[in-house]
Amino acid sequence: MTSNPCFECGMCCQYFRVSFYHGEIAGNRTGTVPEELTTRVSTHLACMKGTEKGGEPCVALRYTPEEGYRCSIYEKRSSTCRSFNVLNDDGTPNQDCQKLQLIAKQKKQQGLGCK
Ligand code: SF4
Ligand code: SF4
Repeated sequence: MTSNPCFECGMCCQYFRVSFYHGEIAGNRTGTVPEELTTRVSTHLACMKGTEKGGEPCVALRYTPEEGYRCSIYEKRSSTCRSFNVLNDDGTPNQDCQKLQLIAKQKKQQGLGCK
């Protein structure tokens, strides 16, 4: 597998409620996220299906032993997904990402790593 830690981790797509402004849904002017993969949360917010309560994988997350975790709508993902990265904008490590990578490693050691 490549050195991209996200392919072996995938944890931020399985941990948070991934919510965003509903205008990011495809068909809403500049929106891109496929509507059928979203759940309405409030008047102005939607979230990725599967992540409504947190602690469950996003419906768009895929896993194969060969490629690891991948986002099946990568080019169409929301700004929320785009803003959570291994590094912060200033190049420093994202502490929340590091914590999640640790959780992913622990789950893997317990044989719970792959969905
Ligand atoms: S928690 Fe970090 S390493 Fe894991 S998938 Fe998300 S951004 Fe990538
Ligand atoms: S849309 Fe893609 S990047 Fe965003 S939470 Fe789902 S799988 Fe992860």
